[in-house]
Amino acid sequence: MIGHPSKRQLRAWLLGESNDKLDEHLSSCERCASVIENMDEPRTDGLIAETLSRVLEPPPDLTSRIELRVAERLDSRQVVGYVAEMFGAGLETSKLLLTDEPPE
Ligand SMILES: [Zn+2]
Repeated sequence: MIGHPSKRQLRAWLLGESNDKLDEHLSSCERCASVIENMDEPRTDGLIAETLSRVLEPPPDLTSRIELRVAERLDSRQVVGYVAEMFGAGLETSKLLLTDEPPE
């Protein structure tokens, strides 16, 4: 063993950088393992990432329900009004982006 890796290396490893030597070192070094356990920043990052992935990934059940509703819309004539509505909203947005005047 050539000594302990720096905190910076440990942090990089924790954030996903692959490093075979560190893998090996950490599997046999309690000291570095506890250093990693006490790093709260990456842990917070992980928590945020986990929370985000939960928020961004709808439950499978919800997805299929939405798809069903979209399919129903496409089957009906409602889709014409729906698209017109979206197109109209897009035009309004473009106008806002093109004009120098602030929107009222
Ligand atoms: Zn170590």
